[in-house]
Amino acid sequence: MNLIIMGPPGSGKGTQGKLIAEKYHITQISTGDILREAVSNGLALGLKAKAYLAKGEFAPDEVVIGIIEDRLMQRNYEKGFLLDGFPRTVAQAEALERMLGKRELAVDHVINIEIEAKELISRLRGRRTCSRCGAMYHLLFNPPKKEGICDTCGGSLYQRDDDKEETIRSRLDIYSQQTRPVIQYYASQGLLRSIDGVGNIGDIFHRILEEIEDRETYAKRGSYPG
Ligand code: ADP
Ligand code: ADP
Ligand code: ZN
Repeated sequence: MNLIIMGPPGSGKGTQGKLIAEKYHITQISTGDILREAVSNGLALGLKAKAYLAKGEFAPDEVVIGIIEDRLMQRNYEKGFLLDGFPRTVAQAEALERMLGKRELAVDHVINIEIEAKELISRLRGRRTCSRCGAMYHLLFNPPKKEGICDTCGGSLYQRDDDKEETIRSRLDIYSQQTRPVIQYYASQGLLRSIDGVGNIGDIFHRILEEIEDRETYAKRGSYPG
């Protein structure tokens, strides 16, 4: 099964993406994680992307399309993949369709997490990430057992540079301008599965699974009501 998870910054794409990928044994591919790793390892890709990430702006389409092309064309994902944070522009969505078409692959479901800006801001402000394994925490909503330390691997937790007040605002604006049209793009293809993003992590995960399982069942029968 090939999935895309969409939603504004802070909506829970990374958190839910990890759970979904574990559940279905598929590979999570996060362009944000790949870009941040390239920056911290001083790779050429990181040098290209660094200034954009710092400002909360999108990296150029050709850069992120190149990353995805590399991952999707060079490797085989036996059980499928989950794209987290890609596509974020219509040009990226079109490039993805072309790439997959060449390999006779397709996207099965686009999960879109819907949530209002106020909630996003408090989620982003309190977000902390493990520097070793990438696990996600929140100071209030999902705190680690020991302050500053990852429950799973013992790595230290850090706050992302772009999770600061002004950068958060501009990321939300850019999302509205550039990524909302992508939702329409997938809606018109009948692939969009919208999920209410309000609630605890477990509840939202169940909503997503229910939606996927329902669609898969109906897909096998060949019709879906509504
Ligand atoms: P969030 O989880 O807060 O939505 P991500 O970790 O997905 O953020 O992305 C962090 C940053 O990486 C973005 O603000 C942007 O600069 C860059 N980035 C990630 N994915 C893309 C993409 N598909 N297109 C352009 N830039 C991207
Ligand atoms: P995204 O990848 O969409 O930017 P994340 O998965 O990184 O979002 O989540 C953003 C922050 O909100 C993290 O600190 C995470 O622990 C927290 N979070 C995720 N889901 C929920 C939820 N359902 N309720 C409260 N906080 C959440
Ligand atoms: Zn960790």
